[in-house]
Amino acid sequence: MALERTLAILKPDCLEKKLVGTVVARIEAAGFTICGMRMVALTPRDVAAFYAAHRTRPFFSSLTGFMARGPVVVLALEKEDAVQDFRELIGATDPAQAAPGTVRREYASSKGENVVHGSDSVASGKAEIAFFFAARDLLRT
Ligand code: UDP
Ligand code: MG
Repeated sequence: MALERTLAILKPDCLEKKLVGTVVARIEAAGFTICGMRMVALTPRDVAAFYAAHRTRPFFSSLTGFMARGPVVVLALEKEDAVQDFRELIGATDPAQAAPGTVRREYASSKGENVVHGSDSVASGKAEIAFFFAARDLLRT
């Protein structure tokens, strides 16, 4: 067990469906501490920078269009085993494959429009939090 931080993004479909409060309540009920939180309107260029690892994938242009379609809410979250536990809370990328009760299974419409992002490792969580938050906007440790 280790105290970790992970980045969550409530994607444009989450705001369009008015599910921000519901998903934040699920995050808090699962024991995560919110260390930083804000709303941001990403440009396609911002999305391309954030998802640089996916730039050669066939879904990249639909991903950038989707993520820039409307504002998102970004959260820096802290908990023991935050990275893995958050991935378990949200479920698999494709809601059809996500376990019952997970956020994506309950609320996502498709593999692309899947309501929420979660970091895939402690290292990417650290880099992704730094992408969105200045030190003064985060809870101090
Ligand atoms: N995505 C997509 N089609 C795919 C795979 C992924 O549109 O076939 C989108 C989806 O929004 C996903 C994001 O690209 O959440 C990043 O993909 P990744 O494989 O990293 O999934 P995640 O880590 O979000 O579960
Ligand atoms: Mg990923």
